Amino acid sequence: MNCREKSPWIVHFNCNSCNGCDIEFLACLTPIYDVERFGIVHVGNPKHADILVVSGAVNHRNVRVLKNVYEQMPSPKAVVALGACGATGGIMADCYNVLGGVNQVIPVDVLVPGCPPRPEAIMDGILQAARLLNVHQKDRHAGAEVRLTLQPVSEPEKV
Ligand code: SF4
Repeated sequence: MNCREKSPWIVHFNCNSCNGCDIEFLACLTPIYDVERFGIVHVGNPKHADILVVSGAVNHRNVRVLKNVYEQMPSPKAVVALGACGATGGIMADCYNVLGGVNQVIPVDVLVPGCPPRPEAIMDGILQAARLLNVHQKDRHAGAEVRLTLQPVSEPEKV
C-alpha cells in the first residue's frame, strides 16, 4: 500500500449532469459522511489529483474539457464515473449532442450505479479506485498501457 492509496486526492468534474449526482457527491464532503476520515482530500486542481470523479454524460461541448482535465492529472491516476449518465449517458443518452458515458472518452476504472448514487456508494467507488492506483503504478513501471477495468459498485440499500 502506498501513500496515494492511503490518502488519495480527488477532483470532481461535472460533465453534463442534472446536478443530482453532484449533490450526492457534495454530501460525501460534509461532516455527515465525512469522506476525509478515509484520508480522501478534495482538491480543485487536476494537477494535484489522483482520482477524477465525473458526473453526467459526455457531450460535444464538454468532451475536450474532460480530456484536458484527465490529461493534466499525473500518473498513476484513476477515474470514477457517477450514475447512469456517467456509465452510458443515462436519460441523456438519446439527446442529439450526447456522445454517451465517460468511457467513450477516457478510461474509466469504477462505475458507481444509481440515479443518483447514494453517498455511501460514491465513497465505496472512490476507495476501490484508490486501490487500483497501486495496480496502475505497477503497470506504468512495467511500461504497460493502463487497462480499462469496468467495475460496478453495489448500491447500498435505501434506509
Ligand atoms: S445519473 Fe441521474 S442524478 Fe446523476 S446526472 Fe444522470 S440523471 Fe442526474
